Amino acid sequence: MKTYYSEHFTIGENGHLCLDGVDLVEVAERFGTPAYVMSESHLRENCRAFTEAMQRNFGSRYKVAYASKALCARFIYPILASEGIHADVVSGGELYTALKAGFDPKHLHFHGNNKTVSELEMAVDCGIGSVIIDAFEEVDRLEAICAKKGVHQRVLFRVKPGVHADTHEFISTGQNDSKFGFGIEDGEAMRMTRYILEHKHLDFAGIHCHIGSQVFSIDGFARAAKIMFDFFCRIERELHITMDEMIIGGGFGVKYMPEDEPGTFGEKIDAMGQVMRDEAARLGREVPEIVIEPGRSMVCAAGCTLYTVGSVRDIKDARCYVSVDGGMPDNPRFALYQAKYDAVVANRADAPRDKLQTIAGRCCESGDLVARDLQFQTAKAGDILCVFATGAYNYSMASNYNRVPRPPILLVSDGMVREVVRRETYEDLIRNDL
Ligand SMILES: *Cc1c(COP(=O)(O)O)cnc(C)c1O
Repeated sequence: MKTYYSEHFTIGENGHLCLDGVDLVEVAERFGTPAYVMSESHLRENCRAFTEAMQRNFGSRYKVAYASKALCARFIYPILASEGIHADVVSGGELYTALKAGFDPKHLHFHGNNKTVSELEMAVDCGIGSVIIDAFEEVDRLEAICAKKGVHQRVLFRVKPGVHADTHEFISTGQNDSKFGFGIEDGEAMRMTRYILEHKHLDFAGIHCHIGSQVFSIDGFARAAKIMFDFFCRIERELHITMDEMIIGGGFGVKYMPEDEPGTFGEKIDAMGQVMRDEAARLGREVPEIVIEPGRSMVCAAGCTLYTVGSVRDIKDARCYVSVDGGMPDNPRFALYQAKYDAVVANRADAPRDKLQTIAGRCCESGDLVARDLQFQTAKAGDILCVFATGAYNYSMASNYNRVPRPPILLVSDGMVREVVRRETYEDLIRNDL
């Protein structure tokens, strides 16, 4: 059977694109467009693939923590919990969502280079698993909060491993010139360690890094793993302490376009595992508990977006613009990074990809495109377009620009579709207007 993008997308006898056997054209008719659609089985497969890769490398001493910022809404947390997955949050809003979804706060950790005092209080109050410190001032703030409440907080802090991930500049974070983390070479990371240890309400548990996002090469991960592990051992040796955990971030690249070859996340985890086992043998010690934080790679491929084509403008000696009823409000990634997406006409998915077209959004911005110069079925008004791989950084980055209500998220499970985030209404848009 012909598939698109992943084996979860098949084509029915009527030529309609299906997700896990559910006809996406019918979904568009029933729920309207634009709409995000997500495969629960694909999401669970990803959870299990991460768990298996970690198990084969680190035995029982690992955690997989989903990076909430890729897609944060209540429905996702019970699914993650049932697969034994932990999560990170980067704001009070994400923390609130996870808690309201009934997620165990002990299975959460809190990131951010500038968490507010009230966010830190909220984290301490709910009994969050750990806070990943990313500023000297934050040490003082957190100590003051804990001292006032008479509680201890488990903390790690963010290290800059000095690895430059070969990805887009805005999503590369491990290099020296970064607003995140403390450098090893310049002594800042060691200074931060000592500083945390001086504060008696903070329980120092380990170190964290995250080199960037949408990284394809195995090499960057392996280098970061070695640098981090060596530094971990150096802290223990020089300061005569023991730590229990090392978080090595997310960033596993995914396939957006048919020609992308991101490799698998399993091969990257294997490479990190190998490096750490080698280092552990060389230094005569055990590998500490290892935590990874996949965001994009957990949800991206499991999601797609459905749009309705409104108009087609074929400009002579220029481009053919296919305009859809969404765009940068629901997917700002072209506008932000000139990200690439693949798409098909869902109601003629079996037809040849016969024309070079540009999918344009509905906003009053020339930069509002979904895909530029993409070869797919000749589109006409009324067609349903399916854009693949929109599970990550779409809903979570969506805005109401041009006062456009945000689309719903529809979850496909066991051959059924249900709304897990409802479509915003015009009333929602003015709710906070006084
Ligand atoms: C964004 C982020 C992640 C997840 O990155 P992905 O590329 O989506 O896997 C993990 N850890 C931290 C600290 C992040 O900021």
